[in-house]
Amino acid sequence: MSQPDVITIDGPAGAGKSTLGQRLAQRLGYLYFDTGVMYRAVTLAALRRGLDPTDEEAITRLAREVHIDVTPPTVADGRQYTVLLDGEDVTWAIRQPEVDANVSPVAACPGVREALLPQQRRIAANGRVVMVGRDIGTVVLPHADLKIYLDASLEERARRRYKEVRSRGQQADYEEILASMRRRDEIDSHRATAPLRPAEDAVIIDSTQMNADAVLAYVLDLMRTCDEHDRT
Ligand code: C5P
Repeated sequence: MSQPDVITIDGPAGAGKSTLGQRLAQRLGYLYFDTGVMYRAVTLAALRRGLDPTDEEAITRLAREVHIDVTPPTVADGRQYTVLLDGEDVTWAIRQPEVDANVSPVAACPGVREALLPQQRRIAANGRVVMVGRDIGTVVLPHADLKIYLDASLEERARRRYKEVRSRGQQADYEEILASMRRRDEIDSHRATAPLRPAEDAVIIDSTQMNADAVLAYVLDLMRTCDEHDRT
């Protein structure tokens, strides 16, 4: 494999996908795109309008109506990007626990996925992209050059999320985070449309015992090895 043009990173919440994705994209000079923000933005819009997250008809209509934009960071407050929902900056609002608690039922709705899929494919159409999510290697970009499935134990993922929330100066309860993640994993992996699972040709990395530097080094090494293998 010469340098992969399209790289996908899938896996459950808290496995380190966005950290790896962002660092890898920066290293390669690629676009980094986290598809989770789109499902989160639709969920926030649904909560604000008082819609039931399991009302598929209403949620599908909403997903077709709202306009989601992801731009480079507009404020230097530790964000990786700015997320605009109908022009409003919702970068931090989509990280609220209410959104965490309701995003999986929204993302399980086939109409929502159908509305977001072409937008995600358009973003990746020019290549040189690292796209992160749950179904990128399996459904969104099945012909990607390099597919990574990043996993870690549930407890370790909850611990990382707890530290991340605390580092933003917010209150956090480890047990609550653990329970919310477990619920989300369950729905994301068992839904009928585009469930969370590794693509058959994905490289599976268990990051439970690895820090972010080690995961990045592992992936860069993997790319180098594949490249050398291709040349010989
Ligand atoms: O990655 P993040 O935790 O921000 O994703 C939030 C939720 O969005 C996931 O729990 C999942 O329900 C949904 N999602 C999805 N498909 C993707 C990305 C995210 O279903 N490609």
